[in-house]
Amino acid sequence: MSQLTYHLMNTSFSKDITPIAFKSAEQFQTRPNYQAALRCNTEELDRIVGKYELSEKEKLQCGLNGCNNWHWHGFVIRTKDGQETNCGKDCGSRDFKVSFKEIIAVYRRAEDAASKKDRLTQILADRESLLAEAERVTADVRIASSKIERIRAEIKKDAVLDRAFQSCMKVDGRIQVEDDASKRLREELGLPAGKADLRTIAVIRGGNALRQSSIIHYRLSRFLVEPLAGMTAQNLDALTTKQLAAESMRFGNLKQHLSDGRQFLTDAAEFNSAANIETLLLLQELIPKNARTSRLSRIFERLPQM
Ligand SMILES: [Zn+2]
Repeated sequence: MSQLTYHLMNTSFSKDITPIAFKSAEQFQTRPNYQAALRCNTEELDRIVGKYELSEKEKLQCGLNGCNNWHWHGFVIRTKDGQETNCGKDCGSRDFKVSFKEIIAVYRRAEDAASKKDRLTQILADRESLLAEAERVTADVRIASSKIERIRAEIKKDAVLDRAFQSCMKVDGRIQVEDDASKRLREELGLPAGKADLRTIAVIRGGNALRQSSIIHYRLSRFLVEPLAGMTAQNLDALTTKQLAAESMRFGNLKQHLSDGRQFLTDAAEFNSAANIETLLLLQELIPKNARTSRLSRIFERLPQM
């Protein structure tokens, strides 16, 4: 690497001066010290201000040392007396005897480092808000699922009640009793006792929460909160740019867990609601008279207090 290249790199990419990736010609043409045409030799060159990579139709004439060729990839350079112009990458190389290839490589490294830093900052910001939300949802899930588990445990204390409850949940929570009118009609018509006509007297809501309640808290802690908590600045900084990109992709999966958690909370709120527990009391209608024990009565007394 030539000494001049080295010097340009150090001045252009020192931490005080961020190289600019110009998105349009207008961006550098409107800078205060821009000159459409400029004379500059190696000694007068101060630094490379930035680079531009335009499309071919946006190409513009080179301003350096009367070159006047049309370039669409190039650099904006600055002289020691503070004037700036654009030049193509090849004529810059020719006029300053510096390897623009090397400068481009250094530029890319600086850009990579800057984009890695941006990505890191973004990931940490996303992680912080996601973690706060994940912790809130997970705490709510613990409360909601433990209430469901208490209700389930209470119902399980009586095998007949538990069977009645489970058969309702198999038909989307519908509590169905035999319809008296159709039963009478069937008897009057002398029809054989077939499958009785069933009448839905109430519907137990939030059945989806039952399928999740024993595992959802573990799942959220293990697959959402733990990975987020492990994404510290220190751990992330050790990753390559590619690994960081993979890490940001992971947010997609993590957000899916979060949305599962939110869905559970919605279902659980339905299941645990006072109105739904009132509905659970109607399961009494399904219990045959000889199975209505005092234990069962105590269960129905306790359910509203869960
Ligand atoms: Zn040129």
